[in-house]
Amino acid sequence: MIIAIDGPAAAGKGTLAKRIAAALGLPYLDTGILYRATAKRVLEAGADPADTKAALAAAQSLGKADLARTDLRDAATSRAASQVASIPEVRQALLDFQRHFGNSHGAVLDGRDIGTIIFPHADVKLFVTASVEARAERRYKECLARGEPVALVEVIADVQARDEADRTRAAAPLMKAPDAELIDTTHMNADEAFAYALARIRALTTHAAG
Ligand code: C5P
Repeated sequence: MIIAIDGPAAAGKGTLAKRIAAALGLPYLDTGILYRATAKRVLEAGADPADTKAALAAAQSLGKADLARTDLRDAATSRAASQVASIPEVRQALLDFQRHFGNSHGAVLDGRDIGTIIFPHADVKLFVTASVEARAERRYKECLARGEPVALVEVIADVQARDEADRTRAAAPLMKAPDAELIDTTHMNADEAFAYALARIRALTTHAAG
């Protein structure tokens, strides 16, 4: 079973996808980590995240340790992740890993193009979103909880800029697959979003099986 969860930045996809994977006994892959780890390598090499050669070399050399890093969520890495993610060669280099991960034992994957490009025939596709204010406020609280000094206006600007870049790029832009189920979590907390999404998955897969 492949469950694709896409949506804009800070929509709560990761938390939701992880809980769904645990509830269904499926492996979970946060595909954003691949782009973040690529970006981190480029930044640490002192290269430009918009440079195709540097970004491709970083993507091709990713190892387990890169993906296990816990310092990939800061604002600079997020921006650079969005830059490397707009390079078709980088996306191509990361495609097989994602498909192989999903095809091995089934999986829940979250990202921007899972339901459109990586697994266009996923069993279930969810497009999780929320108002930009709600998303930025959640991200802001996460930053505060990690002890990162940020201003809410900056977080709103960052989230908006990243969404705009992800939506308008030519390579695998962020968009809802026509057959994806839209879940707007603006007025839901994490527990409510999880309960709702799980109920929808059960309804959609029971329907498919029957
Ligand atoms: O999901 P997350 O915020 O960690 O993703 C970081 C960046 O990686 C996104 O802004 C997007 O540019 C890119 N990304 C992508 N395709 C995915 C997952 C992430 O382009 N499947």
